[in-house]
Amino acid sequence: MSFADFKKRSQSSINELTKKIEETNKKESFKDDRFWRPELDKSSNGYAVIRFLPASEGEDLPWAKYYSHGFQGKGGWFIENCPTTLGQKCPVCESNSELWNSGMEKDKDIARNRKRRLHYVSNIMVITDPANPQNEGKVFLYKFGKKIFDKINESMNPEFDDEEAINPFDFWAGANFKLKVRKVAGYINYDKSEFESTSVLLEGTDEWLEDLWGTQYKLAEFTDTKNFKSYDELKTRRDATLGADIRQTTSDKSTTAETISESDGAAEAEKAFGGDTQTPKQETEEGTDALSYFEKLANE
Ligand SMILES: [Zn+2]
Repeated sequence: MSFADFKKRSQSSINELTKKIEETNKKESFKDDRFWRPELDKSSNGYAVIRFLPASEGEDLPWAKYYSHGFQGKGGWFIENCPTTLGQKCPVCESNSELWNSGMEKDKDIARNRKRRLHYVSNIMVITDPANPQNEGKVFLYKFGKKIFDKINESMNPEFDDEEAINPFDFWAGANFKLKVRKVAGYINYDKSEFESTSVLLEGTDEWLEDLWGTQYKLAEFTDTKNFKSYDELKTRRDATLGADIRQTTSDKSTTAETISESDGAAEAEKAFGGDTQTPKQETEEGTDALSYFEKLANE
């Protein structure tokens, strides 16, 4: 390149650089406009009506499921997707397994604090959003946890004979979901949430439903291998967070990404846990999930 050309490019390269920086910032700011979440009032109550939407074109399932870890060590936060999502080995799950199998309560506590956490993502249409009515009628991604997934599962596989199985994701025979959020014993709680009786979405008008379907997001990215670091990269990150001793904890080891997320919505915690926080009950249920995973590892 001649110097004259180089000089000419000088201004445009600033523009390019600025654009690149903006793109990077966009990626790093965890406010992803595709996601919706219920707005909670000062006492952490929230209410909205949403409709889960069917699988997007070219995809099989109306939800994506993945695991992540979020915890703090003396080297800072470790917030990463867990490769067990893809059936691959995870260095954090491995060290958790080691801690769990020591049988010591103290070690188990550390393992619990670092355990993989379950997330689901679905397309939804917001039906009623009193705190943000501008969202009504729009399609978003919604990230939720085991509790809400259990409610979806119950609607598809009801426990009692007098209850009819529904597919809540169906345009024509699905059902709106009343999301009711409260704070119970210091934890965000979704227990009161429930499905309405079945209803047709958008009056069942094919044109409208087809348009809506066309605006849904693809969920494949949430389990795309490119969003999961390699075993070695994760091990390096883990060791940088914890140091050489996997038993190393910060002074306040009860601080997990979730408690941070609840208190001040720390950006990093948002990334891992935006949208759902666990109740003590879920904690136990997921503990069981984690336990069976550890047992499996131990038997391998
Ligand atoms: Zn893991």
